Amino acid sequence: MLIVLQPGSTPADLEAVLARARKLGLTAQPAQAGDRRIVALSGGSTDATAFSDLSCVARVQRVDDAFRLSARDKQPRGTVLDIGGVRLGSGQPLCVIAGPCSLESPEQALGIARTLKQAGVRILRGGLFKPRTSPYSFQGIQEEGLKLLDEIRATVGLKVVTEAVDERTLDLLEPHADMLQIGARNMQNFSLLRRAGKCRLPVLLKRGAGATLDELLTAADYILAGGNTQVALCERGIRTFSSHSRYTLDLAAVPALHELSHLPVVVDPSHGAGVRSRVPAMALAAVAAGADAVMVEVHPEPTVARSDGQQSLYPAQFAELLPRLQAVARAAGREA
Ligand code: PEP
Ligand code: MN
Repeated sequence: MLIVLQPGSTPADLEAVLARARKLGLTAQPAQAGDRRIVALSGGSTDATAFSDLSCVARVQRVDDAFRLSARDKQPRGTVLDIGGVRLGSGQPLCVIAGPCSLESPEQALGIARTLKQAGVRILRGGLFKPRTSPYSFQGIQEEGLKLLDEIRATVGLKVVTEAVDERTLDLLEPHADMLQIGARNMQNFSLLRRAGKCRLPVLLKRGAGATLDELLTAADYILAGGNTQVALCERGIRTFSSHSRYTLDLAAVPALHELSHLPVVVDPSHGAGVRSRVPAMALAAVAAGADAVMVEVHPEPTVARSDGQQSLYPAQFAELLPRLQAVARAAGREA
């Protein structure tokens, strides 16, 4: 751990930090970095809060964080993504992404796109290549849907986010989308992450169901290190002992990610809850927790959806939810 003192700190300030380190049983090595005093700590475990009451301390940094591109102090004001002209991130209006799990046919895709556009949505979600747990489940309409993405963008006027499941599908999708999703199962597909780092589109990186925030951020660094600065982090639920929900939506990850990283945070309450009736409550809670965007599955006929129908909202439910999400954003002091 590295303690960075405020500019203009005095020898007495340094002594206060060293005394605190001694009290905690840590070995402290003071040094000068330019005009700043710093102290390297080793030999024990503690956290940043052990120094937070000392006003002479500017920041406490984990040494492995110091090299991380996604770390908050690399971009203290927060990164804002530009998704075909729609802005997502700190200081921007709440962004609501909605659409079916899979695009299934021209009628379904264009129909729901028009409905959502009318409701006020600007970014449609919809998968063509589906990473299904079972090889016997619907795998998406794949290449056949590429022209549908073009049609949604050109004729309905929505931006689209869709999932690339490997490097080949990323190459295929890049000319037809406004944002690419890397799904939970691929969060640590390092060759895909590297390819996404060379992609000209913003990337929605979903947290693996068994991944820590540390692992999510190092995965984001693969993309950032390739030169693509446009990455959003998406909490979509993690695996726990819970049997009342498909996953456990880790909403505490939202403020934690904001502290740790400058990247915008998106919450997907649909995969987290896994049951339609619980999606609105979790979406509202996500906005209250500070999510920059929520991404919700909505299907024109959820009962006959080819994937994730059980957690997809009916369009009327979504239309009722949207102004409530905006009201929560305003209540939390944000633009809606
Ligand atoms: C999806 O968004 O439809 C999806 C498959 O998500 P996840 O990767 O979070 O399971
Ligand atoms: Mn889905």
